[in-house]
Formats: sequence, C-alpha cells, structure tokens
Amino acid sequence: MLELPFNMTLNFPTLFFKSLPFAQNLEPELLNGAIALVAVGLTAAYIYYHKNRKGCLDPKNFKEFKLVKKTQISPSAARFRFALPTPNSILGLPVGKNILARGRDSQGDVVMRSYTPITLNSDIGYFELVVKMYPNGKMSHHFRQLKEGDNLAVKGPKGRFSYKPGQVRAFGMIAGGSGITPMFQLIRAILENPKDKTKVYLIYANVTVDDILLKEELDRFADTFPHRFQVYHVLNKPPNQWNGGVGFISKEIIESHCPAPATDIQILRCGPPPMNKAMAIHLEALGYTSNMQFQF
Ligand SMILES: Cc1cc2nc3c(=O)[nH]c(=O)nc-3n(C[C@H](O)[C@H](O)[C@H](O)COP(=O)(O)OP(=O)(O)OC[C@H]3O[C@@H](n4cnc5c(N)ncnc54)[C@H](O)[C@@H]3O)c2cc1C
Repeated sequence: MLELPFNMTLNFPTLFFKSLPFAQNLEPELLNGAIALVAVGLTAAYIYYHKNRKGCLDPKNFKEFKLVKKTQISPSAARFRFALPTPNSILGLPVGKNILARGRDSQGDVVMRSYTPITLNSDIGYFELVVKMYPNGKMSHHFRQLKEGDNLAVKGPKGRFSYKPGQVRAFGMIAGGSGITPMFQLIRAILENPKDKTKVYLIYANVTVDDILLKEELDRFADTFPHRFQVYHVLNKPPNQWNGGVGFISKEIIESHCPAPATDIQILRCGPPPMNKAMAIHLEALGYTSNMQFQF
C-alpha cells in the first residue's frame, strides 16, 4: 500500500483540489469553503439515497425471494431468512404493515396467508419471518417443507396499522404465540430510534416456556431499555421456578401491566381468535374505548 507522509494524508482533499485546473488560483479560504461544500453535498446525497431507497415489494404482483437460512427456534416455530435481490436492497415495508405469502398445502392446492416480518428497513439485503407451524395448517405445511435455496412468493405491503413516532405516549401490547411478530417489529422500530420516547408494555402469553418466541431478544430489550420497555410473560404450564404470570391473561394482569385508559395510549392485540375475543371483553370492562384499542 502507498504510504503517505502524515501531513500529506491530512491534507489530501486540499492537495487534490489544488491539483484541479480551476482551483489553482483560488484563495485558501475559498478553497476550504469549496471542499466543505462538496463534503456537505456528498453527505446529503448519501442520506437521500439511503432514505429514498426503493423497496423490493410489489402490492399487486407476487415476487420470489430465496430462503437462505432456516432456524428452528421452538418445537413448532422457525425463523426464516430470505435474501433480497442485492446485498444493498431493503424490503421497503413500513412499520406496522405485513405481507401476503403464497404456497401449497399438503394436497397441492394454492394457499395464501399473512405474515409480519420481524426485520426493519434498517436490515439491509434480507428480511426474516418467524412462523409457527400447526400440525394441520395449510400454509404451515408449505413452511415445513421449505428448504434453504427454495423460493417464497410474497406480495405487499398491506395492513391497516401505521406508525409514526410520537403518535401515542404509550402502547400496551397483548400478544399470544405467533401474535408476537407485529409487536416485535414495532418494539424494535421504537427502541432502535433514540428520538422516539414512546413507552411499551408487553404482556406475552404462551403455553410453555419453550413456546415463547424471541424470548432472548425481548428480555435483552427489557434489560437495555428498562425505562422504555417492559415485558410480562404469562404461561399456561409454567416451570417450577417461574416469576411471571400463570394461566390465561386476566383483567387484573392487564390492569397491572398495561397503561391505564387515556386518550394518548393504545392497546394492541394479536393472538389466536379465542384469546383476542377474551381480551376485547377484559379491555372494555376496564374502560378502554374502541379508539384506545387495535387488533392486528
Ligand atoms: C396480519 C397477520 C400477520 C400474521 N403474521 C404472522 C407471523 O408473522 N407468523 C406466524 O406464524 N403467523 C402469522 N399470522 C398467522 C398466519 O397468517 C396463518 O394464519 C398461520 O400461519 C396459520 O396458517 P395455516 O394455513 O398453517 O393454518 P390454517 O390451515 O389456516 O388453520 C389450520 C389450523 O391451525 C390452527 N391455527 C391456525 N392459526 C392459528 C392461530 N393463529 N392460533 C392458534 N391456532 C391456529 C387451528 O387449529 C386451525 O384449525 C399472521 C396473521 C395475520 C392476519
């Protein structure tokens, strides 16, 4: 490698500019100003390029993405990483939105289901899904069969929920099983933005401790951001040593672990249909109006 004397390395941009014909007769102050202007311009162009990068999704047509990594993360759920067309591509999914995936069931019939990536547009070159697979589930069959190197057809973005930092003071989140994925995406977007002051209180219900998806990540967020994020796990069948909730999510658990009803909070719900129904009844009894609730 070419070794440059120390002061020559420091002055490299100045020396480069001075070598340009138009800069030969410029005053040093003007030359430094020109260099600063070019630096500011390049930085602005870099930020503009990254902010306005086009995503890879098409809301009307399915596009194929290659599965590059499949990791079993619980007895019935796996994490799927799909490559985007180039290592610099972003998925382009707004926070709170989801995608439609197309596959084939065990009879060979086409099936389509919604999924919420747990990655954000700050994850470059790939996106990830966490999928819980049910024994008789149609799309579950497709995901069980999917091998690294296979393609998945996806279209989007879609969904009714949108998020802008500061739209509420606090979110209460009530999730069951794979219903964690839309919450996880939003939690990440909030916590990874130091300017976002929104507080998040998550109640996450599962059957056993092994069924808790993304537990390590959630507990790490709670440790790293204790003033912005809290998680309370509830298990149907807890282990002997367990300091979370036991049974189903009750009115009392919601009262103790969610922000109280107010016009500047929102409670988000996502879980199996019977759980969503039970939570809607609890929330109404606790005084949360329909404007204060959202079901993914
Ligand atoms: C907006 C949205 C986002 C979603 N994001 C995700 C995600 O990121 N990850 C993910 O794993 N799933 C997600 N889902 C659920 C997903 O769309 C499918 O419903 C799920 O994968 C089951 O599909 P299936 O075809 O295998 O089951 P189906 O063939 O539709 O159902 C077969 C059987 O599976 C069981 N079953 C199906 N769904 C559930 C459920 N939710 N809870 C309990 N039992 C069930 C029931 O016993 C049912 O009878 C999301 C759903 C929506 C609406």
